[in-house]
Amino acid sequence: MFRDITIEEFLTRSANDDIDYSDFADYVNRETEKLNKKYGFLREVVKLEMKKNPEKITKKMFGLPVSIKDCICTKGIGSFAGSKILEGYKPVFDAHVVENLKKENGAILGKTNQDCFGFGTFSVYSDYEIPKNPIDSERSCGGSSGGCGGITKAATFPHISIGESTGGSISSPAAFCGVYGLTPTYGLVSRYGLIDYANSLDKIGVLGKNIFDIAFSLNIIAGHDSRDSTSLKTEKKDYTKVLDKPIKGIKIGIPKEYMQVDEKIQKTVWNAVKKLESLGATYQEISLENTKYALSAYYIIATAEASTNLAKYCGLRYGVQNEIAKAESFNDHYKKIRTKNFNAEAKRRIILGTFTRMSGYRDQYYLKAMKVRTLVINDFKRVFKNVDIIASPAMPITAPKFSDIEKLTPMEHYQMDVLTVPPNLAGVPMISVPCGFVDGLPVGLHLIADHLQEEKIIQAASWV
Ligand code: GLN
Repeated sequence: MFRDITIEEFLTRSANDDIDYSDFADYVNRETEKLNKKYGFLREVVKLEMKKNPEKITKKMFGLPVSIKDCICTKGIGSFAGSKILEGYKPVFDAHVVENLKKENGAILGKTNQDCFGFGTFSVYSDYEIPKNPIDSERSCGGSSGGCGGITKAATFPHISIGESTGGSISSPAAFCGVYGLTPTYGLVSRYGLIDYANSLDKIGVLGKNIFDIAFSLNIIAGHDSRDSTSLKTEKKDYTKVLDKPIKGIKIGIPKEYMQVDEKIQKTVWNAVKKLESLGATYQEISLENTKYALSAYYIIATAEASTNLAKYCGLRYGVQNEIAKAESFNDHYKKIRTKNFNAEAKRRIILGTFTRMSGYRDQYYLKAMKVRTLVINDFKRVFKNVDIIASPAMPITAPKFSDIEKLTPMEHYQMDVLTVPPNLAGVPMISVPCGFVDGLPVGLHLIADHLQEEKIIQAASWV
């Protein structure tokens, strides 16, 4: 009765009073339990409790199930950001996005498994369960919002997932799981209540099964919030309005630096671009010259910010206190707590980030990386004078096997972000759109636009 109904159908049926919510909740709870047992998408499941067509379930979302990345605070529900150091933390408040979703009667379904604090591309650095790709469970869901991607693909009920991206964590799982994943302009969605990774880069966004789901959700989560000083004062938009609007005359730029990927992935992406061309769009080759420096700059800036953000988890005000009895002094306590509860990837990033900010090295690394960031931003500014959107693959590979990820060095792991890091550094909006398969695995087409031009990529995505 509810299997595979779309969000649009769910909303229409709800508006027509044609949903028995207690049946719906039973179905969703059963399916979620079954899927979670098999794939481990959710670190914590929240059972939906809905009564038979209660008056309360109205508003825009009518009780639509929403999964939330673990690093986004949800009142009274564990929010551990995938890390043991925050185990047991139940916020006494909701993040701005969660408030917005609840206001419209979104129903929280659970917290998704992720790389700790967002540190990763394959969700294998989670301290909890590593989510498995529903297309092939020997493969990664992508990361760091891996659980979001996996459950969005596998859910047989209408559902959206709220993720977060610092350097590509929405695009990666969307591409690997074959769903849509939108990373909005930096500042369009408030970060209030987000457990920070790197404040100058973090963005909250949404993953959904189709483009309507994305546009509909963005309407709900976008908007100014005075509690986040980087939140933009923008006018409210209805992003569903541009769906299926003709794309005749839209100019697409194809960055030559982004097309140096596996030939089959290239071909799949070209097919999607050709499809847009057949509908009246035009394309031209462009160059984003500073792409080759972006990855290094990103890993310096992101880890520098992460290392300062993680400093507060020392078992005093923030973080578990599970070693307190054994400590001989404050310093000893901090050391024991951090040694025990941060995993190897968190430690790697703390060391790297602390090093690049040290007074003797700051000029050489951190400040230089900031200058490179400006060059990357300027690349995008220049290009967007001539084209409306940029198209490229979202990821250089398809979802890898866990056994192959194990063989990667940390550097090789970081290099997988080569296509997602530049737009994330620039804070421009991007969406990964499913555009075909290579050897049975989904490929994501990345559409990127200038700041606050979400409508352009949503419009184009609706034609892919
Ligand atoms: N993979 C990137 C990193 O590890 C991006 C992660 C993210 O966007 N949260 O930093």
